[in-house]
Amino acid sequence: MPLVVQKYGGTSVADPDRIRRVARRVARTRRARNDVIVVVSAMGSSTDDLISLAHEVSSDPPAREMDMLLTAGERISMALLAMALHSEGVPALSLTGSQAGILTDASHGEAKITEIRGTRVREGLEKGNVVIVAGFQGVDPTSKDVTTLGRGGSDATAVALASAHGADVCEIYTDVMGVYTADPRVVPEARRLETVSFDEMLELAAGGAGVLMARSVEVGRRFNVPIHVRSSFVEDEGTWVKESTMEEAIIRGVAHDTSEAKATIWGVPDRPGVAAALFETLAGARINIDMIVQNVGQDGSTDISFTVPQSQARAARRAAAPLVKELGARDLAVDTDIAKVSLVGAGMKSSPGVAARVFRALADASINIEMISTSPIRISCVVRRGSVDGAVRALHAEFDPPVITEEVGANG
Ligand code: ASP
Ligand code: MG
Repeated sequence: MPLVVQKYGGTSVADPDRIRRVARRVARTRRARNDVIVVVSAMGSSTDDLISLAHEVSSDPPAREMDMLLTAGERISMALLAMALHSEGVPALSLTGSQAGILTDASHGEAKITEIRGTRVREGLEKGNVVIVAGFQGVDPTSKDVTTLGRGGSDATAVALASAHGADVCEIYTDVMGVYTADPRVVPEARRLETVSFDEMLELAAGGAGVLMARSVEVGRRFNVPIHVRSSFVEDEGTWVKESTMEEAIIRGVAHDTSEAKATIWGVPDRPGVAAALFETLAGARINIDMIVQNVGQDGSTDISFTVPQSQARAARRAAAPLVKELGARDLAVDTDIAKVSLVGAGMKSSPGVAARVFRALADASINIEMISTSPIRISCVVRRGSVDGAVRALHAEFDPPVITEEVGANG
């Protein structure tokens, strides 16, 4: 029997009606003679609500207890969905991440899956159940403490389970129709992609496309699990994320991200070991660095800028301050009023002039570029927060991502 993994996000299980609707969809898949593993997120915004609750009782909640709290969200939706399936006449069994054998490292709040022990899930399937697994969580086998995988982590749970159990497909059900050439709230004429490669999806997700967690795409790429991102509200096909695509699109899409801050250290001595010391210090404080730009040195000193998640901006400043002093650097400035816009497409590798067109399009829209970083298939620019929507629209219009979908005729 084919095995399907289906993941339902928070909006898809936000209330009892929606949970019943998900149950009917799962039941249909089961009756069509598939084995089904379902991964659920917490209902609606309940993870955010739990986080707020924690901060009402503590200004600095211990990471272990935070994970105890947050894993409860997924536990609620898994049990409710199991009950709804029973009402549909479909046997179902819900399991926590730990019960489903999802082992992780010890980093609370951002744990990585290290191993999946499949016995209980397999036994559940063999007995004819739909097996429902709580997303976003696992257990550290050393401390036996529960862990969470980072925001949006249910996607990683789903893809990892699909890989461990040899599923034929991992379906990610969400509140949009798939992956778009840009955020449709910013670019109304954005189109749904039929397919996107793992590499491109990884760049889009890292660039801020919220539809899939970047880490889940990494897992999909590593184990070659095809991921189908689709709407839980309609039956239409969504977007396939898979190894390679037939289309020769130069540009696949534009992503943007308003969740980062820019830190600049002015006047650092231009000598070996300075960047090493700085980024070792930041790594020691577990700060996630994204872009890094260092100026050409002049008169023995230089400036270094980097971006970090806004939520870590204060911690980054705290970590870097002593070193800035020790190095005799001139100043350390953190700017949260920035945003990043990224153009992604595998075809840009072999197509000269894409970067020039990016900069021209932004210039024509009077948008100043503050930082630039590139990969073989991506060009990212940091701009003022207030101009990011304009930047996304300018790039989308310039490249009009040449994607072929059924909707092309209808939408333009
Ligand atoms: N409930 C968690 C979150 O809101 C995990 C997820 O939705 O995937 O981040
Ligand atoms: Mg989510």
